Amino acid sequence: MKRHTSIAGLVCLAAALCITAAASTADAAYMKWCTRWRSQYTDGGIGEDLFTSTNVVYRTAKYNSAEVWNQATSTRIWYGELDSSGCTPYLAVSSYTQYKFRQATKVKKDNRTIYVNPDSGTWGASYIWLNSYYTTGNLYWLYGYTHTFSPNWNSPKGNLMPLSRRVLAVYTKLDYPLNTLTYIRTDNTHCDSSGGAFYQSGTNNICLQGQDADGWEDITKWKFIFGHEMGHRVADANGGPDCYGYTEQTPVATQSHCTCDHVDDYGSDLHCMGSREKIGTAQCEGFAHFFSAAVFNDNDNMYGILGYPKEAWVFTGENYYVDTTPPVAFNAVSYKRWMENECDPGNADKGTEHDWMSYFWNVWADGSYESTIDEINDVFDNADSSTYGIKWTDMMDSVEDKYDYGTGDYYQWLNNGDSAGVDHES
Ligand SMILES: [Zn+2]
Repeated sequence: MKRHTSIAGLVCLAAALCITAAASTADAAYMKWCTRWRSQYTDGGIGEDLFTSTNVVYRTAKYNSAEVWNQATSTRIWYGELDSSGCTPYLAVSSYTQYKFRQATKVKKDNRTIYVNPDSGTWGASYIWLNSYYTTGNLYWLYGYTHTFSPNWNSPKGNLMPLSRRVLAVYTKLDYPLNTLTYIRTDNTHCDSSGGAFYQSGTNNICLQGQDADGWEDITKWKFIFGHEMGHRVADANGGPDCYGYTEQTPVATQSHCTCDHVDDYGSDLHCMGSREKIGTAQCEGFAHFFSAAVFNDNDNMYGILGYPKEAWVFTGENYYVDTTPPVAFNAVSYKRWMENECDPGNADKGTEHDWMSYFWNVWADGSYESTIDEINDVFDNADSSTYGIKWTDMMDSVEDKYDYGTGDYYQWLNNGDSAGVDHES
C-alpha cells in the first residue's frame, strides 16, 4: 500500500520504517538537489563583513532558477527557484534512474531578476543553462535523500551568480526595485570596445569585462566592481544621482592628490576616488562606491569597507603615498574631507568620490535618522540640477521639501555634509 505523506512527515518517520520498506525499491523515494557555485574573488579579506575569502569557495546557489528532468521519461519533474539553502523541494524519484539537473545563470527573488547573458546574441537575449547528471542507486521507499553537488563552473558565471543572489538576498536594504531585470554581460563583443566595467545608463545592462596593460583581465573576480555597477543600476532605476561626464570643468586641479595621474595598470584614469570632478559625477560615483560597500557589509555604522580596484592615494596622517597594489581598502564610514583638505574646493560645482561616498554612507547608517536608499534617490530625483550636477544648496532645498526644515532627518543630511566636506555653497 502506498501512502502519500508530506515531506515533513517523511523526514519524521522512524528510520526503522524506512529500512523495513527497503524491499519496495520500485516505489518512490524522495530527493532534493542542492547545488553551489564555484567562486573566487581577488578583493576579499580586507575587513568587509561578507564574501571575505580570496580562496576558491563553493557558495550556495540560493534563489537560482533550476529544473530537474527524469531522463528515462524525458519529463521535467520540477522547475522554479532554489530556496535560501540553494535546494529544490523534495521530489519523488525512482531507483536506478538518471536525472538531469539544469541550473540557469539567472537568479530571481520576489519579482526581481538578474541574468548573466551568454557570450553571443544581443543584450538581454537570454541566460545560460548548465547541466549536471545524476543516476540514483537502490533507493528506500519514502526515504528523503539529499544530493549536494558543486559543479566545476568557473568564472565568470561562478563568480557573478553568488554576487547576484547576494544583492537580491538583501534587496530590502538596498531598495533594489520591484519588477526589475538586470542583464550582465562579460564578453568582449557586446561590451564597449574600450573594455572595462560600466552600467549603460538608461538600460538594464551592466558590462563586466576587463582590460589592462597585460591584456584581458577577468573583472568578475573583483566583487566590489560588481557592487559598484549595481549601484549605478539601482540609482538609475530609482531616480538617484546621475553622472555628468568625466572631464573636469576648468580650472582643473593642480594638486596631484586630486588627479588620477597615478592610476596606471588598474582601470581607467578618467576618474578615481580622490579626483576633483564635477559635483554630479562625484555624487554618482560616490553613491556607487557607497552602494558596493553596503552590499558586502552590515549597516552597523562600524565598517563600510570598500575594496577599491584602482591604485589610490593614501594619507597616513603624516605622509601621502600611492598604494599600487589594489584592492585598496577604504572605509566608507570615515570622513576624509578630501576636497576641503587637498583640492582647493573653491566653488559649489565640484566634489570628490570619497567625500560623497562617506556622506551617503553616514546619511544611510548613522544614528537615529537614517535615510533609506530610496529616500536618498528621491532627494536627488526631486532636486534642481545644473550642468555640473546637483549643487549642495539645491540638494538641501530638496531635503527640506521632503523632510521639513529643522527635523531630525533634515539635520542628518545637513550635519553629515559638514562632516564629509561636501557642503560647498555657491
Ligand atoms: Zn562608476
